[in-house]
Amino acid sequence: MALTKDSSLLELKGIGEKSQKLYTKLGLLTVGDLLRNFPKDYERFEKPVKIKALTNSTISAVLGTVLTTPASRKGKRLTITTVNVKDDTGLLSLVFFNMPFQTKILKPGATYIFRGRVEVKGPSFVMEQPKYYSPAEYDRLTGILQPKYSLTKGLTNQAMQKAVKTALSSYAFPEEYLPADMLSRAEITDLKTALHDIHLPTSEKDAITARRRLVFDEFFNFLFCMRKNKDFVATIANEYPMIETADTVRYVESLPFRLTKGQKQVWAEIREDMEGQRCMNRLIQGDVGSGKTIVAFLALLMAVANGYQGALMAPTEVLAMQHYENVCKDIKKYHLAFKPVLLVGSMTAKEKREQYEKIASGEANLIIGTHALIQEKVVFKNLALVVTDEQHRFGVRQRETLAEKGLRPHVLVMSATPIPRTLAIILYGDLQISVIKELPEGRLPIKNCVVGTSYRPKAWQFIEKQVAEGHQAYVICPQVEEGEMDDLENVTDYAEKLRSALSPSIVVAYLHGKMKAADKTRIMEDFAHKNIDVLVSTTVIEVGINVPNATVMMVENAERFGLAQLHQLRGRVGRGDAQSYCIFLSTNESKETMERLGILNRSNDGFFVASEDLRLRGPGDLFGIRQSGEFSFHIGDIYNDAELLKLSSDIVDDLMRKDPDLALPEHQRLKAYFTDGTANTVDFRSI
Ligand code: ADP
Ligand code: MG
Repeated sequence: MALTKDSSLLELKGIGEKSQKLYTKLGLLTVGDLLRNFPKDYERFEKPVKIKALTNSTISAVLGTVLTTPASRKGKRLTITTVNVKDDTGLLSLVFFNMPFQTKILKPGATYIFRGRVEVKGPSFVMEQPKYYSPAEYDRLTGILQPKYSLTKGLTNQAMQKAVKTALSSYAFPEEYLPADMLSRAEITDLKTALHDIHLPTSEKDAITARRRLVFDEFFNFLFCMRKNKDFVATIANEYPMIETADTVRYVESLPFRLTKGQKQVWAEIREDMEGQRCMNRLIQGDVGSGKTIVAFLALLMAVANGYQGALMAPTEVLAMQHYENVCKDIKKYHLAFKPVLLVGSMTAKEKREQYEKIASGEANLIIGTHALIQEKVVFKNLALVVTDEQHRFGVRQRETLAEKGLRPHVLVMSATPIPRTLAIILYGDLQISVIKELPEGRLPIKNCVVGTSYRPKAWQFIEKQVAEGHQAYVICPQVEEGEMDDLENVTDYAEKLRSALSPSIVVAYLHGKMKAADKTRIMEDFAHKNIDVLVSTTVIEVGINVPNATVMMVENAERFGLAQLHQLRGRVGRGDAQSYCIFLSTNESKETMERLGILNRSNDGFFVASEDLRLRGPGDLFGIRQSGEFSFHIGDIYNDAELLKLSSDIVDDLMRKDPDLALPEHQRLKAYFTDGTANTVDFRSI
């Protein structure tokens, strides 16, 4: 029987209940999910090179003969196995960690192709954790692009490749839904070819062609839904007119700082909207640390003072908790009229029910939470304003969910994503844009350094020193736990390493997205209250987190992150009066990587970073490094694919002019696509 996108993964040969669980862990439940889980990169098996020709920190393959019996040595944490191999140009040392069994496999005299990252140390060449293949086996692999997928412990890339292959072989591909003229204008291939080739390309060119189609789909979906939203919003009258009351004036006056010019300006624009004729649909754009939160709370206070409810949505529970805690403090301190509740997905059913009741009765007038809060069960009494903080722009679906309940609240979106104006106009086309240009006065510019891994001990010493001076530090690692494929730093092991390396009085803790919400909250609270000195974390703390006493941000495997993301991470420090520091550690010290990361060294300005980033990456990169921020398209990259984004925007414009309701015969399949729930899976991750 043919598979469809809704078929269970269990229908695939080779996937039983045990491996199904692993796929579920990755959020892959159906065959459709599996096929939409695009490779994050491809592995190219390059032709072997001579040992003498090896260059530092590149992945290379070498045809070599084992010289000696491998030697294993048990260290404190690791068992290290070393062995020498040679070719006719020189010697290469192989190093394996925790693989003592290699002593039994690698026999002197045997010849293999060894492949791994090479370090050139003076006259000697070292390859760490190489994989090895028989020459015939390797020959079969060269020339083919091997897709690399995101994995979880227990699931290998090979298994994933096999599952995808099986799925593709009996998949009933959906009919092409884009009209032919659109395919040719956008210069894109058909959906079937694209879905196949993104996973199983026979050449790099095929992969690029496939990717272009899938990126177009994302942009097209996103832009079409956004234009619809724009038209819809424009028709909404202000159903919650407000007047300014003494509450907000008093709040501003009692703050320990004066609002910046930009903050004042934006606050005035918001007031004007909420007092005016039309429903507000506004974006506040301001670099990290520019002080967007206080402006949002002023708007929420104005809503509350006018007798309405306001809601604040955050992309993560950690951030929602932080907002809740802070507003509770401010309520006490400044006697604000907020009656807040917190609503996050991880609460027990009973807790949620209690909050729902308070919201429905109006006993609560400020609702703070993750997007769970706008789920069906929540009945608001008189919701007049929804603020979304960071990352998740207010999706069309969310607007629709509220509209279905008869709600047309004002909407305020806050973002720190620095995007060039031309792109902002396309991506935020349905929003009025307010900009906070300057940072609050008196902030010392963050000092940055971009370094290789040899600097690590020094960085740790530096952290030790900062902690001794009463400050705190973050260390970011790309992985939660040891991964299958990549040799990346992971949070759990790293915290352990730091604990033994730093003085015992320093409290080290770790945080990652897979932890229970209650644990995450506890750790964040402990960090905020200075019970933790060094927090080792994944990028869950990337957005919004505000602990002004933290002065060091150290990022491991910085080469793995996009510049925008690194800039966001940097924004976690430099939020108070003290001098702050950022240390970007890169495992890859190639010229390109160091040049790219060097941009962060040159400026602390997010807009500068974004535009330099754009300038540096030429088009044609098969996979740009994922950008974070609210435009986390699965595969498209607003910077790398800026040209295609503009073209998609023009195509959507023309479609909206010609046939906005998709009534023409040639648009029937497109219409079905948008109405049967296949589309709109892209931007609105917050749903
Ligand atoms: P972001 O724009 O990144 O969300 P926040 O709103 O979290 O930034 O503000 C960062 C820090 O700056 C907070 O500790 C906040 O209290 C403080 N802050 C906000 N506005 C001002 C101001 N005008 N002057 C001084 N500090 C401010
Ligand atoms: Mg913020």
